[in-house]
Amino acid sequence: MITLKDIQEARTRIQQVVYETPILQSEQLSKLCGNQLFLKAEHLQKTGSFKIRGASNMGIHAIENGAEYVTTASSGNHGQAVAYVANRYGIPSTIVVPENASQCKINAITGYSGLVEKCGTTSGERLPRAQQIATEQNGVYIPPYDDPLIMAGQGTVGLEILQQLSNIDAIVVPIGGGGLISGILTAVKETNPAIQIIGVEPELANDTYLSLQNKKITAIPATNTIADGLRTNQPGDLTFPVLSKYLDDLVLVSEEEIRMAFSIVLERTKQLIEPSSATTIAAALYGKLNLQGKNIVTLISGGNVDIEHVDKLIVDTTTFVQ
Ligand SMILES: *Cc1c(COP(=O)(O)O)cnc(C)c1O
Repeated sequence: MITLKDIQEARTRIQQVVYETPILQSEQLSKLCGNQLFLKAEHLQKTGSFKIRGASNMGIHAIENGAEYVTTASSGNHGQAVAYVANRYGIPSTIVVPENASQCKINAITGYSGLVEKCGTTSGERLPRAQQIATEQNGVYIPPYDDPLIMAGQGTVGLEILQQLSNIDAIVVPIGGGGLISGILTAVKETNPAIQIIGVEPELANDTYLSLQNKKITAIPATNTIADGLRTNQPGDLTFPVLSKYLDDLVLVSEEEIRMAFSIVLERTKQLIEPSSATTIAAALYGKLNLQGKNIVTLISGGNVDIEHVDKLIVDTTTFVQ
């Protein structure tokens, strides 16, 4: 398992690359939730999500150890982050994406000078291809979550929150493969175990919820939740033990609750966040956290949405009832 020291080292390694993102507050949102709410604004991070933290930690480490090429197999935020890091350090990258990847995601990757290769429709096809290119090019394959360097990099957001805020009772974090929350758990529980860490998953992607219940990694079938950063269908071999050890609670939110949270955040705070991040606000808005009156940080993990599809996420906020 990773330690606090790994995360401190990551922080030093990546400090030239990542922003220290602000903490946003909205009185209206806090009132609606019945909490003092602090939004950790990783949608304002470079490349639009926290994924740059893990990708830069592993990427810089690889380059320091002689890598001349990096690859990954994600069309989403992780793919953009890997392309950004490679470009920043002047090495090429190939991001292997599904045949049906949206043009907007492809443009984001090529905008950071990443090479895009289309391959199949499943991660079972893409992943071996990305690994093969890495081997051929004297490079390194950078996985999205299940690696100690990735987890430690994501954990730096936990250290940042601890420095920016005192007197917080809980941090609420979305869970996909679990890289983000396992890093935050390690950073926070090894510093101040009194702070509760609560995970959130969509009901449609409840693989970690089921795995914790079954006390072993449990896979679910492919899912199409609107929270596209959380569609992973099982927790990682390295991330899951950290969650099992430290996680205080895990709550589930419905697609409608995610849409409502997305719409209320846009309306009240004017922030465009992605559905994966709206899950944490949904958990607070719908009273799922059992933390009424407490000081809560909701992790806004990213803000990358296909702008032409935003209308599909918006609902009538006047119908909100807790
Ligand atoms: C990847 C991602 C997540 C989930 O992170 P994991 O490390 O896979 O748990 C949450 N939100 C956004 C915006 C993401 O890109």
